Amino acid sequence: MVKINDNFLKLPGGYLFPEISRRVKAFSAENPPKPLIRLGIGDVTQPLCPAVIDAMHKATDEMSNKETFRGYMDDSSGYEFLRNTISEHDYKARSVNIGPDEIFVSDGAKSDCGNIGDIFSVDNVVAVCDPVYPVYVDTNAMAGRAGTVGADGIWSNLIYLPCTEANGFFPALPKKVPDIIYICSPNNPTGATATKEQLKVWVDYANAHGAIILFDSAYESFITDSSLPHSIYEVPGAETCAIEFRSFSKTAGFTGTRCAYTVIPSALVRGGVQLKSLWIRRQNTKYNGAPYVIQRAAEAVYSPEGQKQTKATIAYYLNNAKVILDGFSKAGITAYGGVNAPYIWAKTPGGIPSWGFFDLLLKKACVVTTPGAGFGPAGEGYIRVTAFGDAEATKDAVKRIIEVL
Ligand SMILES: *Cc1c(COP(=O)(O)O)cnc(C)c1O
Repeated sequence: MVKINDNFLKLPGGYLFPEISRRVKAFSAENPPKPLIRLGIGDVTQPLCPAVIDAMHKATDEMSNKETFRGYMDDSSGYEFLRNTISEHDYKARSVNIGPDEIFVSDGAKSDCGNIGDIFSVDNVVAVCDPVYPVYVDTNAMAGRAGTVGADGIWSNLIYLPCTEANGFFPALPKKVPDIIYICSPNNPTGATATKEQLKVWVDYANAHGAIILFDSAYESFITDSSLPHSIYEVPGAETCAIEFRSFSKTAGFTGTRCAYTVIPSALVRGGVQLKSLWIRRQNTKYNGAPYVIQRAAEAVYSPEGQKQTKATIAYYLNNAKVILDGFSKAGITAYGGVNAPYIWAKTPGGIPSWGFFDLLLKKACVVTTPGAGFGPAGEGYIRVTAFGDAEATKDAVKRIIEVL
């Protein structure tokens, strides 16, 4: 008789987005006075840019020809053309010495953030920020690293690092020393972006304790303040303690196209082993690499036209963020993020609970947001609003919110 991985049974069952969808459906059935505007889920809305589409067409034509057809890659880590381009553009251009042999292309930062757990023992103690991108928590729970979950949603074996208004939404060092530390900057959900000085504290701490930082910078392309780091490797010492996750999803609208990469420096060694060698072994065993056509599409993001076009789309989203921030300010709502990130983290008025404010905005303004409490206990008293919407719809949503508050 087969035994299932009963760690899965401990998962509370994806409470947040199903519950939002249940409430939205129930409200829609009541014939709302206005069409709903959705500023909840973090998906992009603008199409792929022309440079990317052209590259995909060209690569598709290559696949139709016997001479230029591509089958399996020799190594699942990605084609040289893309790894070289990433190394030059995302690292060397910022004076960070990350070479193509330290870059591993994949189909997503979500899968990489989850799969990376394969190379670490189940006995490691994991620290996550609170509020948090749920993938870090659930993948560790599935692996048996999180312990058991209480009615309050707190896992017994995880260390929670509160990110609050008081600490500028960046975590302080914990009392108990973790082995694996997740940091996401620019942050989903708070929109906070770490400075080099803030990251340096964690880099020094991780090096001193032999811990590992899993650094998710899926939103780095939204950074507007030139003093802020796009990569954790801009902080000295990070090459001996950090793994970085990047994605084309939010940078270039690849949420449905799927391409990302993970950086594991050659200097990152634990237990006498280069961690990148374990990742290569893991990927070559369980993964055959991102599609050729998609890797050509990703390469095109770095062409001069690709850069111009993707930057224009990011500016469009950041303008939405500004519209939302200005609107909240007019409505007397305290809000954070939205300057170097596509998320606005807004404090509920009068300290009402997240879900209460969510319901109020849904029912009075017909605007869908995300209750902060769904990202962890420290998210209570906040809602997350995304800047990934249509510009006109975002303006309408903000107008409605100001009217009802
Ligand atoms: C959207 C997002 C990603 C990107 O995931 P993909 O699988 O590459 O689409 C990664 N991390 C965070 C925190 C995100 O919000």
